[in-house]
Amino acid sequence: MGFAVEKIRADFPILQRQVHNKPLIYFDNAATSQKPKAVIDALVHYYSFQNANIHRGVHALSQEATDAYEQARDQLQHFFNARHRQEIIFTAGTTHSINIVAHGYRSILKPGDEIIVGQAEHHSNIVPWQMACDLTGAVLKVLPIDNNGQLKLQALNELLGVKTKLIVVNHVSNALGTINPIEEIIEKAHSIGAKVLVDGAQASSHIKVDLQKLNVDYYTTSAHKMCGPTGVGMLYGKKALLEALPPYQGGGEMIKEVYFEGTTYAGLPHKFEAGTPNIAGGIGFGAAILYLNSIGLEEIAAYEHDLLVYATDELKQIQGLKIYGDVVEKTAVVSFNIEGIHPYDVGTLLDQMGIAVRTGQHCAQPVMDFYGIPGTVRASLAFYNTKEEIDILVKGVQRAVNMLL
Ligand SMILES: *Cc1c(COP(=O)(O)O)cnc(C)c1O
Repeated sequence: MGFAVEKIRADFPILQRQVHNKPLIYFDNAATSQKPKAVIDALVHYYSFQNANIHRGVHALSQEATDAYEQARDQLQHFFNARHRQEIIFTAGTTHSINIVAHGYRSILKPGDEIIVGQAEHHSNIVPWQMACDLTGAVLKVLPIDNNGQLKLQALNELLGVKTKLIVVNHVSNALGTINPIEEIIEKAHSIGAKVLVDGAQASSHIKVDLQKLNVDYYTTSAHKMCGPTGVGMLYGKKALLEALPPYQGGGEMIKEVYFEGTTYAGLPHKFEAGTPNIAGGIGFGAAILYLNSIGLEEIAAYEHDLLVYATDELKQIQGLKIYGDVVEKTAVVSFNIEGIHPYDVGTLLDQMGIAVRTGQHCAQPVMDFYGIPGTVRASLAFYNTKEEIDILVKGVQRAVNMLL
């Protein structure tokens, strides 16, 4: 049976709309994904019929809202195959998740300790570590990429040492789409006693992730890149590590007992969930997981790979077009430039044709500096995109080239 893309497209109200009087072609999925009706309905249902604060009321609404929110945690646990449900921390998104861990490491790191960071990281997996290093005297070392945007694993052997406390790296680069060999990185890190944080924001709706099999120490993602709402995400951490990590924010929900002489903290996951959480967002996240499961991550990955191969082959026909990170192991992201044309100009013309792509640095300035370019045009695909849309993109890029050169 083929992939029922037309049926899937009907689940996404926004795909019916027009932009500049043209049917919307949405190729900016790496920035945020679109939302199926099931997710929108879950948000509306919560606010219409269940709205109450959670974990604290004896009344029926509060119980219902708590159950719905905590059920979403179970769904995340199963989706990512975490061992314990307490290992799933609800956050505001990947940026928040990484900051929770980096903040905790401020009291773990000693002067001279080392953190290894990939060269192709999103700024949110660079800056929190720079801040932690600045405060502790720890040192940030960079694991370089090669011309194809792939991490140089031989260099990791030289960088890893007794001082290495942590490696922080993305599962998939948002700028290039390259999939990193995180299994190998995790194994190498563990062999010398270092931990690994993987930024999974760009992987979780495209690749089946099994946290126990990966044996990763910390893993982060954002719901809005997985068909879920904005403002909610996940931090996964191994139970023992999260128990040892100091809390990030103090407040309600995260305490056991509060005295002016001192306070004791709640157990996991509440220790890291101070304050009233994004309840609707958490419930919507659960609905997004259900939706992705109803299609199947393996099916999504296979279909998106077909789209990637097609888009890559077709775009390469355009004279002067260069793809960055043109490798086999990648998700459906095509990051490119055309010789002599600024990416912004291509993006602006494509927008006039109803095609949404991202242009610029993609929150990954070191990657652009590495290639010596101001940015790229990035077409990032999802399972609700089609080959017909790719044809229109390729024609659109060719038209842009004709106009600009
Ligand atoms: C989007 C993204 C982030 C940041 O996620 P937010 O939802 O903005 O917090 C971090 N890393 C990667 C690889 C991303 O794609």
